[in-house]
Amino acid sequence: MKLIFEKGRPGRGTDYLGPCDVPGIEIGGAKRERPLRLPEVSESEVDRHYSLLARHTHGVNDGFYPLGSCTMKYNPAVNEYAASLPGFTQVHPLQEADTAAGCREVCRRLEGMLCEITGMDDMSLQPAAGAHGEFTGLLLIKAYHRAMGHTGRNKILVPDSAHGTNPASASMAGFEVVSIASDENGFVDLAALQAAVGEDTAGLMLTNPNTVGLFDPQILEITRIVHEAGGLNYYDGANLNAIMGIARPGDMGFDVVHLNLHKTFSTPHGGGGPGSGPSGCKHFLSPFLPGKDTPESIGNVRSFGGNFLVAVRALAYLMTIGREGVPDAAKHAVLNANYMRVKLADLFPMAYDRICMHEFVMSLEKLKEETGVSALDAAKAMLDHGIHPPTMYFPLIVHEALMVEPTETETRETLDEAVEVLRGIWQAAHDDPERLHLLPRTTPVRRPDEVSAARNPRIRYDFEAVRG
Ligand SMILES: *Cc1c(COP(=O)(O)O)cnc(C)c1O
Repeated sequence: MKLIFEKGRPGRGTDYLGPCDVPGIEIGGAKRERPLRLPEVSESEVDRHYSLLARHTHGVNDGFYPLGSCTMKYNPAVNEYAASLPGFTQVHPLQEADTAAGCREVCRRLEGMLCEITGMDDMSLQPAAGAHGEFTGLLLIKAYHRAMGHTGRNKILVPDSAHGTNPASASMAGFEVVSIASDENGFVDLAALQAAVGEDTAGLMLTNPNTVGLFDPQILEITRIVHEAGGLNYYDGANLNAIMGIARPGDMGFDVVHLNLHKTFSTPHGGGGPGSGPSGCKHFLSPFLPGKDTPESIGNVRSFGGNFLVAVRALAYLMTIGREGVPDAAKHAVLNANYMRVKLADLFPMAYDRICMHEFVMSLEKLKEETGVSALDAAKAMLDHGIHPPTMYFPLIVHEALMVEPTETETRETLDEAVEVLRGIWQAAHDDPERLHLLPRTTPVRRPDEVSAARNPRIRYDFEAVRG
């Protein structure tokens, strides 16, 4: 399809609104040298352009979206209504605090609920995304060791199944990253952990359930080993929906957590929209939290209170589903994942064949050996059935991985249809593997060059090149 800059004609536009009647002022030196290059298109052209873009986009409102390690697919409209109330949208971060008491109450209540769900004692809503929450939590660990005079504790242990942001955040926070191997069951290898901890251990970063969708039953042992070595335990709670209301990181021996409100607590996730990655901690770390009026505070990690309207959505979600709804959502997430896993396991070998949490990882290694059809081919084939592909090639410890997370809100019929689609792809791979390398057929872009798209993205319209 054409870009909006390629549509329209010079001078075309919509001027029925009339000229602006607010007097202009000259700002010395700051005026742009040439007029802004905006597309000159009619109202209908703009409207059709964006409607077409919307049709070419696949979202949760279009069809099944089983993207693993991603969780949030349930964004009820009532939360959007709450987040659009003028009392929330028309506040200014610099207005007198006592004129925004309602907004402060929203934050206070949400922090309280998130503390209760995670088993933490205090929470900051400042961090704007998951990785930002990780970075903040790691700064708490750093500040704590510094305050205690533990100058040699500069290593963070990270299991090899971890989300890529974990080692990245640890490194950004100035730590050295030590990778801990997983055992053949996909769990932390206790002997490897025991061998890795020592005087230089600042802490461990872990998620449980881990990124292969398994709940590590040795969790108390793991956190004990780290504590006994003098380190702190960090819980990556980006995807909490398998355990929320059922098990709490705070009870598993963790000292710091982050959550992804844009995954687990009902904010649309994707397109780089505003997110929120609250950082929570136990009492002894509370003075270090950002935004605290304490000498120990690490300072602000973001302006003001964070992405406030994301907090409004999370509170609306929690108040709507209520105390019983939280564990209920977790149980359905786990049930749905296991339902699909069992219905697929005979054709698609599971990386770890046991009861999973909210997601499972299949390995298409055997299918690829037998037919040449890869995890990428299978994912592309799903697009022609109106299904968003699962997460591909993650976690890195599983070859030809497809990571499926159905989420709690999908019906049994939807899960059955997705199972049929995947079984059909397996059959097609055996009948006519060549055809699968050519899919999808129904999408506007078929197979982008993924390496160039990631390494050399062209996201700016090059006016000079067009003018020649
Ligand atoms: C998504 C995710 C993150 C990072 O969250 P962002 O908001 O994308 O920065 C961290 N850990 C896990 C396990 C995740 O799934």
